[in-house]
Amino acid sequence: MLTQAPRGTKDVLPTESYRWQYLEKMMRTAAAEAGFREVRTPVFEHTELFLRGVGDTTDIVQKEMYTFKDKGDRSITLKPEGTAGAVRAFLESNLYAEPLPCKMYYLAAPVFRYESPQAGRLREHHQFGLECFGAKEATADAELILLAWRLLSSLGIRNLKVNINSIGCPECRPKYNEALKAYLKDHLDELCADCRSRYERNPLRVLDCKKEKCQAVVKDAPVLLDCLDEDCRQHFEDLKACLTAAGIPFEVNPRIVRGLDYYTRTVFELITQTKDGNLTVCGGGRYDHLVEELGGPDLPAVGFGMGMERVLMLLESEGITIPEPPLYDVFVTYMGENRLAAFSLVQNLRNSGFKADMDHTGRSLKAQFKYANKTGSAITATLGDDEVLNGVVKLKNMETREERTVPIQDAALAVMDMLVKE
Ligand code: ATP
Ligand code: MG
Repeated sequence: MLTQAPRGTKDVLPTESYRWQYLEKMMRTAAAEAGFREVRTPVFEHTELFLRGVGDTTDIVQKEMYTFKDKGDRSITLKPEGTAGAVRAFLESNLYAEPLPCKMYYLAAPVFRYESPQAGRLREHHQFGLECFGAKEATADAELILLAWRLLSSLGIRNLKVNINSIGCPECRPKYNEALKAYLKDHLDELCADCRSRYERNPLRVLDCKKEKCQAVVKDAPVLLDCLDEDCRQHFEDLKACLTAAGIPFEVNPRIVRGLDYYTRTVFELITQTKDGNLTVCGGGRYDHLVEELGGPDLPAVGFGMGMERVLMLLESEGITIPEPPLYDVFVTYMGENRLAAFSLVQNLRNSGFKADMDHTGRSLKAQFKYANKTGSAITATLGDDEVLNGVVKLKNMETREERTVPIQDAALAVMDMLVKE
């Protein structure tokens, strides 16, 4: 128990964190290119925020939240998604008074959901998410979809499908809900227990159920796209025109409704095919009424969340390797009595910007070389007795085998020269 992480959580070990850092760098660049700046919000919020923000008929709120009372008897919930916290921060700091749109992203933000752990489904996962507040035009929806698509493509992920849909607005959706309910009414006994209760509380959610029997019913259900009012229909046409102009392949999938209550108009998912079936890497959409719902001004917004573990999983399953940076540029090897000289040399090399280290465990000189080799250090710098006596250091390029003996004070320059020449 003591040495076992809680079910559904995953460590990122020092040997693999470079994969995360690589991904994070790509994500930061993609976000910055489109004018998004980073926001960091707390890992926990008042439970009320998610009840109002995510919606109390959603699976997340009904089954998946990590909610507890703190010692001050407040109900606290670990973030089950990123948008509500971002909206709360946006409102709390009156960012809507600044020039709009306000574009923000969060990176490697931990998200907690009590789900059955399986491949690509954790109880703590991390999201890269973007939110754009105050932009009503479909260009804002399109740029988000494009950003996600370009990012994943540039990572080398193939077979990406972009699925889009419009779920209308509070004006046109109730009409559809009626039509859907009328259709589902005759099929209630074919639906799962969850969907039977969804039928009453939030029939749209039945479209989203992953159970096969519900999917079979839903297949012939009326389509929301046919019920959109004129403004929503035009918005969706605008979105399609932008995506077409950008030249990215997309499909209109009328079954996508997304698992959160706050969406309006555009919803989208980026899906890939894996050997175990479809995997959704990124999901998002427009939420034109959430800001107001949470006590702010009437302000449209659009965003997405991308599961970082899922992206890494895909890279792995597609055999896409991420270059592992070498642990050291220089490893200083030394005879025991030259420990202090070695220590100073390491500090000098680090001061010059090199990744440098020495043995701290009392290894023999031979074992130090072996270790340097194993860590993939580009250069070894040896301080034997002769070298220290003569004030020099012996540098060796571990790949080309080139050797140079230089005055200790010139070590950094010589290392630079050897690395450049490589
Ligand atoms: P799913 O349909 O797979 O349950 P979702 O609709 O619940 O996904 P969102 O709430 O839109 O997912 O979250 C955005 C992204 O976060 C998803 O597209 C996915 O990549 C990732 N994600 C969601 N839940 C998990 C989880 N339990 N473990 C790992 N990644 C997840
Ligand atoms: Mg889910």
